Amino acid sequence: MTYDFLIIGAGAAGANCAYTLKQAGKSVAVVDKEGIAKGASGAAGAFLSPLPGKKNSYNSLVNDALAYSIDFYEKLMPKLITKKGVLRVSNDNFDKTKLDGNALKHKVLKFKNIEGYYYADAAIVNPVDICNYLLKNCDFYQEDIQELNFKDGYYIFKNFKAKNIILAQGVNSPLVNYPYINISPMFGVKIDVKTSTEIPFNIHKSISISTNKADGTVAIGATQQNHSMTQGECNTTCDKCPFYINTDEEDVKSLLKQANELIDLDDLEVIKVSKGARATIKSYFPVLGKIIDYEKSLKKYPSIKKGTKIPSDLLEYYQNIYSINALGSRGFVFAPYLAKKLKENILDGVAIPKEISLEKLFYKYARTKGV
Ligand SMILES: Cc1cc2nc3c(=O)[nH]c(=O)nc-3n(C[C@H](O)[C@H](O)[C@H](O)COP(=O)(O)OP(=O)(O)OC[C@H]3O[C@@H](n4cnc5c(N)ncnc54)[C@H](O)[C@@H]3O)c2cc1C
Repeated sequence: MTYDFLIIGAGAAGANCAYTLKQAGKSVAVVDKEGIAKGASGAAGAFLSPLPGKKNSYNSLVNDALAYSIDFYEKLMPKLITKKGVLRVSNDNFDKTKLDGNALKHKVLKFKNIEGYYYADAAIVNPVDICNYLLKNCDFYQEDIQELNFKDGYYIFKNFKAKNIILAQGVNSPLVNYPYINISPMFGVKIDVKTSTEIPFNIHKSISISTNKADGTVAIGATQQNHSMTQGECNTTCDKCPFYINTDEEDVKSLLKQANELIDLDDLEVIKVSKGARATIKSYFPVLGKIIDYEKSLKKYPSIKKGTKIPSDLLEYYQNIYSINALGSRGFVFAPYLAKKLKENILDGVAIPKEISLEKLFYKYARTKGV
């Protein structure tokens, strides 16, 4: 089989790219070593929440992506999204001043003994069913891709070949070297519970509690742990890590404690514990676009190290390889929006917005690190 696009990674990022390119008439295949939505995407809440606060480039991106993505899920998969809004309670990150002064439409609301700011444009989705739905018309192969071989205009694999590659690998080691993207994993646990308590909307403080979903469960998530390889023993939740210590019990306890501080959950029963690693970079922005070959570009233009900017089309790129990554804690908010931007870039030549472009990180890294 020959495909226009092969997407490596069947999480939210890969599934949305596959769907969008397929809709644009391209032939698309997806590979994943674990299966569909078995990485971070399978563990996600998956809450779709606005980011309040004084307008800046990050919360504008989040809120634009949120509006696009809620509309996308509602039109395409209405049964997989529950949109009842979120009651946001102030905490250390979002104090009253920030929540008061924010640009988003909201109202002050009291529910039981929780007072907060209610945003109607917030939802929760079913992450696994969404990925499966988006991939239902694409060929899927369960394979661990170890390397990319380019020959005569195609990337060649065992059973198929492809003209273009999209790397949607999350926290896994990238298949090409682009050192200017430094992905770090942020591990976390989410639980699904049963409760007889009626929860009219999602509630968010340091953790989120969902409204009662169509399947009768409530999601509570998520814990966050940075992974530091400098520690001899690392409290990660990733059982593939050599330093793995199982912290599930404490994580579940901590989530239930934080949930109970917000609302009494009657007849509570934990029915599922999910864990995964979110991919993040320092700035928290996601990254998107054609992958610049760092070494070749610097060899061609050494003055880049001193801050010279080169027109994009003159830089050296890996042949037809694109990246979508670092979706952080908002993968299901960002993925449909980023997939659309990537499609517009590849098929229509529309530039990737600067704040999420690989170029921005490439120049920054070249200036600070050199070769
Ligand atoms: C506990 C938790 C709670 C979260 N809650 C929310 C939330 O409430 N709202 C929200 O929007 N987001 C949430 N997120 C974040 C969200 O899950 C991620 O941002 C999103 O799933 C990232 O999607 P992805 O496709 O980039 O990565 P992943 O889902 O990790 O997918 C990457 C895939 O690539 C595959 N892969 C990598 N390399 C190869 C290779 N060489 N060959 C074959 N396959 C390969 C992996 O097997 C993996 O399946 C949460 C995440 C966690 C862990």
